[in-house]
Amino acid sequence: MTETTEFDTIAAISTPPGEGAISIVRLSGEQALTVAQQIFKGKALSQCASHTINYGHVVDPQTQNVVDEVMVSVLKAPKTYTREDMVEINTHGGIVATNHVLQLLLSHGARLAEPGEFTKRAFLNGRIDLTQAESVMDLIRAKTDRAMQVAVNQLDGNLSHLIKNIRQEILDALAQVEVNIDYPEYDAVETMTTKMLLEKATTVRKQVQQLLATANQGKVLREGLATAIVGRPNVGKSSLLNHLLHEDKAIVTDVAGTTRDVIEEYVNVRDVPLKLVDTAGIRDTDDKVEKIGVERSRQAITAADLVLLVLNNSEPLTAEDQELLNLTANKKRIVILNKTDLPVQLDDAALKQKVPADDVIAISALTTNGIDQLEGRIAQLFWGGIDNSQSTTLVSNARQIGLLHQADQALGDVLQGIADGMPVDLVQIDMTRAWDLLGEITGDSYQDELLNQLFSQFCLGK
Ligand code: GDP
Ligand code: ZN
Repeated sequence: MTETTEFDTIAAISTPPGEGAISIVRLSGEQALTVAQQIFKGKALSQCASHTINYGHVVDPQTQNVVDEVMVSVLKAPKTYTREDMVEINTHGGIVATNHVLQLLLSHGARLAEPGEFTKRAFLNGRIDLTQAESVMDLIRAKTDRAMQVAVNQLDGNLSHLIKNIRQEILDALAQVEVNIDYPEYDAVETMTTKMLLEKATTVRKQVQQLLATANQGKVLREGLATAIVGRPNVGKSSLLNHLLHEDKAIVTDVAGTTRDVIEEYVNVRDVPLKLVDTAGIRDTDDKVEKIGVERSRQAITAADLVLLVLNNSEPLTAEDQELLNLTANKKRIVILNKTDLPVQLDDAALKQKVPADDVIAISALTTNGIDQLEGRIAQLFWGGIDNSQSTTLVSNARQIGLLHQADQALGDVLQGIADGMPVDLVQIDMTRAWDLLGEITGDSYQDELLNQLFSQFCLGK
């Protein structure tokens, strides 16, 4: 097992900023108990059994003033989140008292933790691997239950297990090559070795590609499917939007550190998080003469992964409708025929020439007829062929996807090398490269810079 590395003692507030009644100030490191003790009046923390909660007061050692009444959790290594000694001080005096507690810890031997540093230590101390660390981050950011489930699966180590199995197979093959190379005098051995490598590389590559096949869905679960609702004025875009937003399904997230105009808006449609593009154009213009304008639609369409193009079934197709149909022809698109509660005026035949029947959904935003089918169609488009049962392991993050692509490439080189009749020891190099790249996914071969960049994306106190 990995040994615990020794680090200095870090501290941070680990509950989100805001109004919560209780906040937690977290400490981790060799001196965690000692540092906490200096500002804590109550039991001797070093005497407390591990995983106990102890009542007392935080007292400023300089002024002897009581800062807050607290509960202190004592968590001794190694069975802790970081595998180091940890102390969690539960304060309830509000943000001012909590900050004061943190300040006292910082002036008595602790250092302010960097974002993600607790999780980083869990990784460095061997408690979790990189995919699990990343899933902690995903959990914090999950936008739908399904995204949450994927993150939980990763936290359980599902992806790690898959990758580790694949690596083991590669390693077995490499070991076999080494053994065989020791007997170079037999031609038959060379032939056998090549055949074995060919088989292994083929199966392993298939597994890598299966994982990659889930990448698109995984990425969307993390980031949302950029979706534009377009259509000329009065066709019913706002009404449709309101239906999609109905019942607390709307999630509006305020992306940290950004200004109001880039607030991102998400709708959860059957566990597909739609990230709505340019809803301002739909929402704000109703009382004025609506001026979406083709130029603006064009931009929204370009930015979108999915376009919902709304047409008015109770009017003939207009030139503007035609233009929007053309603009979206090469996009993933659903054409929505709205206002089907009114007498039909739209020329069905003309539309069918432009759009496959499967891509057209008839609805009424007034009666809500067809909204169900529309949502079903969105889910179907997104999940496509892949099994979306809860157990599926999805690769969801750009770093992991990039490495899988490179590993796929390396395995492709193995197969190409064999096809070209390259000597086994050269083919072996590409096979080893695949093994290395897969190892980077789980962090079995990692670089400091990568780690820092990765963990810095976490929130403070995690
Ligand atoms: P937008 O300009 O495309 O956003 O269209 P709105 O959603 O603002 O709708 C324009 C008008 O059409 C409003 O008066 C709506 O009540 C009405 N409307 C929207 N959908 C339907 C529908 O399915 N049937 C009927 N009869 N009216 C609708
Ligand atoms: Zn509108």
